[in-house]
Amino acid sequence: MASRPQSAHPPPGEPDIGVAIIGAGFAGICMAIKLKEQGRGDFRIFEKAPSLGGTWRDNTYPGCACDVPSHLYSYSFEQNPDWSRTYASQPEILAYLRRVAAKHAIDRQISFETPIEAIVWDESSRRWRLTAHDGRRFTARVVVSAVGALHVPKRPDLPGLDAFEGPVFHSAQWRHDLDLAGKQVAVIGTGASAVQFIPEIAPVVGGLTVFQRSPPWVLPRADRRISAAMRTMLALVPGLLGLWRAVQYWRAELVALGLAYKPKLMGRGQKRSARFKEREIQDPALRLKLNPFYTMGCKRVLLSDDFYATMTLPNVALVTQAIREVRPRSIVTADGGEHACDVIIHATGFAAFNPAAGVTIRGRGGRLLADDWREGPQAFRGVAVAGYPNYFMLMGPNSGLGHNSIVFMIEAQVRYVMQCLRWIDSGRLDQVEVRDDVQQRYNEGLQKRFERTVWRDRPGSAWQLPCMSWYVDARGRNTALWPGLSVGYWMTTRRADIADYRPQVAAADP
Ligand code: NAP
Repeated sequence: MASRPQSAHPPPGEPDIGVAIIGAGFAGICMAIKLKEQGRGDFRIFEKAPSLGGTWRDNTYPGCACDVPSHLYSYSFEQNPDWSRTYASQPEILAYLRRVAAKHAIDRQISFETPIEAIVWDESSRRWRLTAHDGRRFTARVVVSAVGALHVPKRPDLPGLDAFEGPVFHSAQWRHDLDLAGKQVAVIGTGASAVQFIPEIAPVVGGLTVFQRSPPWVLPRADRRISAAMRTMLALVPGLLGLWRAVQYWRAELVALGLAYKPKLMGRGQKRSARFKEREIQDPALRLKLNPFYTMGCKRVLLSDDFYATMTLPNVALVTQAIREVRPRSIVTADGGEHACDVIIHATGFAAFNPAAGVTIRGRGGRLLADDWREGPQAFRGVAVAGYPNYFMLMGPNSGLGHNSIVFMIEAQVRYVMQCLRWIDSGRLDQVEVRDDVQQRYNEGLQKRFERTVWRDRPGSAWQLPCMSWYVDARGRNTALWPGLSVGYWMTTRRADIADYRPQVAAADP
C-alpha cells in the first residue's frame, strides 16, 4: 500500500541541492557528467581535498600506475587515443580525469576542501542534511556517495611503532619531501602498491627490507610505450579505438571464467607466474619464500615486470617472519631477528568500506550505517541500502572487480542511479529506498555464488591455508567483489525495477 507523505520543504536557511555527490574521483565526475547530459544542473560535488582525482590524486608513490590497460581504464564516452603507455601512470590518468572534468565544465560545480562529516536523513523535509567539516550545512534531495572503498589508509598495529625514531608513512601518503637515497628502508606489505614502488626505490636506497605476510601471485605486465604512429592511427581510423578497447575488455573478462566459475582454470596463470619467477630468480630459497599458498586470484593478481628481479638485488632482503615489535631504529621479527631501518613505509592497503571513517551517515529513524554495517557492508546491486532513502553509492559493496576495469562498473552504476532519479523526477516515487527483503535476498544469492569461486579457498581444498584478504568481512563473507563477469553486472543493472523499492507515491506539495 502506497503511503503519501505530507510536506517536503527544505529547512530554511540552508542551500538546497538536488543531488549532492560526495567525492570528485572517477565515480563522482562520471555521475556529474551524466546528470549534466540529462539537463540536470542541480548538483554539487563535495570534495574533501583541494583538487579532484580521488585515488589518482592521493596515490603519488614512485611507479604508481594502473594495472588495467589504459584504453580500458577510461570512460566509454571519453575514450583517449593518446595514452602514452599500455599501462598509464598516475600523472597521466590524473591529467586525463582533469581534462574530462574541465571539458564538461564539472570543476566549477565542485566544492573543494569541503569534507562532509555528517549525512542525516530528515524525515519531515524528506531531505538529506549534510554538515561539512567547517560547520556549513546543506540539504539535498539525493545523495550519491562516490568516495570509493579504498581511501582510508590502513596501518598495521605493531607494538612499539609509536616510539620509532625515523619517518613512518603510508604508500598513499608518500613523503616526497624525504630523500630516501642511501637510507635503510623497511616496507611492510607486498600488495598491489608495494610491487609498483619497490622496484622504483630499490636502486636508490641504501638497503631495502621487505616484510611479506603472504606472497602474491605475480604476472608480467608487459608495459610498453605506445608509438606516435599507433596513437595517430587510434585517433584517425574510425572504430579502431573502440575495437582495441573491446579486445582488451573481453580478454580481461576471460579471466573471470577462472575466478568466478572454474578456479581450476587459474592453473594456467599459476604456471605462467611460476615460470616467470624461475626466469627472474635463480636462488631457490628466495623463490620458495615467494611461492603463494592459495589459488591465484583469491587476492588481487599483481602485474609487474620488475618486482621479482628487484627482489634479487644485493641491497634487497625479503623477510617472511611475522613482525613482533618495532624498536626506535629497527623492526624485530618473531624469530628474534632484528632488522635495522631509518624509514618505515606501510604498503598495507586500506580500510575498505569504512562508513565510520570521518562521516556519520544516519538514515530513516536515525539508524546509523556504521551500525548496520558493523559485521560487514551490504547493499543492493552495490548501489542502494535499505533504510537510506535517496542515498546511492558508486563502487559500493560487491561491485569491485579483480579482473577488469572499475570504470566499467561505475558507468553501469551511474546508469542505474539515473533511472532511479527519473522515478523521483516523474513523480513515480518520492523516496527511492530498496526493500529490506529484496536486499536480503540479493545478498543471499550473491554469497551463494561465491561458493564456487576462487575467493572461497579453505583448508581441505587444494591448499592447506585459507585465503584471507580485504575482500572478506568479519563474518567471512566476500563483500567487496562482484562474483562474476562484469558484463553480468552490466546486465543486472541495465534496468532498475521499481518493484525492488518501497512503494511510496510522490508528495502533493502545497
Ligand atoms: P593490498 O594489495 O591490500 O596489500 C597490502 C599488503 O600489506 C599485503 O601484502 C598484506 O598482506 C600486507 N599487510 C597488511 N596488513 C599487514 C600487517 N598488519 N602486517 C604485515 N603485512 C600486512 O594493499 P595496496 O597495495 O595498497 O592495494 C590495495 C588495493 O588498491 C588493491 O587491492 C587494488 O584494488 C588497489 N590498487 C590498485 C592498483 C592498480 O593498479 N589498479 C594499484 C595499487 C592498488 P596480506 O596479503 O597477508 O594481507
